[in-house]
Amino acid sequence: MVKAEGVHKSFGAVQVLKGIDLEVAPREVFCLVGPSGSGKSTFLRCINHLEKINSGRLYVDGDLVGYRQQGEKLYELRDSEVARKRRDIGMVFQRFNLFPHMTAIENVMEAPVQVKGETRASARERAGRLLDRVGLSDKAGNYPSQLSGGQQQRVAIARALAMEPKLMLFDEPTSALDPELVGDVLDVMRDLASDGMTMIVVTHEMGFAREVGDALVFMDDGVVVEAGHPREVLTNPQHERTKAFLSKVL
Ligand code: ADP
Ligand code: MG
Repeated sequence: MVKAEGVHKSFGAVQVLKGIDLEVAPREVFCLVGPSGSGKSTFLRCINHLEKINSGRLYVDGDLVGYRQQGEKLYELRDSEVARKRRDIGMVFQRFNLFPHMTAIENVMEAPVQVKGETRASARERAGRLLDRVGLSDKAGNYPSQLSGGQQQRVAIARALAMEPKLMLFDEPTSALDPELVGDVLDVMRDLASDGMTMIVVTHEMGFAREVGDALVFMDDGVVVEAGHPREVLTNPQHERTKAFLSKVL
């Protein structure tokens, strides 16, 4: 579903991704962990076509989205293609970014109606089912300000699912939540995983990574330091940097 080969990304003189190699298989729950500033969010933004890579190859859902060798032209999708591709990728951020002037169900309906041209009646019916799936059928008429952080994040997940994505990217989805609200969000993600959704999850929730993850990559300073099955990497890290990081988060 995603394959990165030597992916580099700089902002001006600052090299953020220094040659990322990894592969995410369909239906896999792929956990990406590492210290703040290591380039995790930037990598997700490259996958989601929000940033263009400087060199290397990046394939998403079979498409080569960025490719440049020294002296060669960057292979790029046209803007219209990017817009179409982005519909197939759902993204959930640390901050929920719901539309504040819309109710929960209106937030979930918005993209299918505006982007896909679905009728409001059909979008509303599907949104209702998605809210039910994330355990919020009784909150459909609430505005974001009337919901807890955990409830807002579950609406954000339902909103991403409303576009029927092939791939879901989660960027620290529980980091902004009070501890007692984290479990409900992780339960929804666990349910999605067991349903076969391909997911890349940036998280510090090592319990989730161990139980639900199929693969875990530890990233530091723009490179993949260590990769393997989550249980292996978490119980028997090979590199000093991985050990140091895990000793802080476990
Ligand atoms: P992480 O998600 O692992 O904490 P990020 O991908 O957010 O790391 O950031 C990695 C580095 O890239 C940081 O040093 C950050 O300041 C820098 N960076 C990210 N986005 C930009 C940008 N748009 N312009 C300049 N620097 C950026
Ligand atoms: Mg980040």
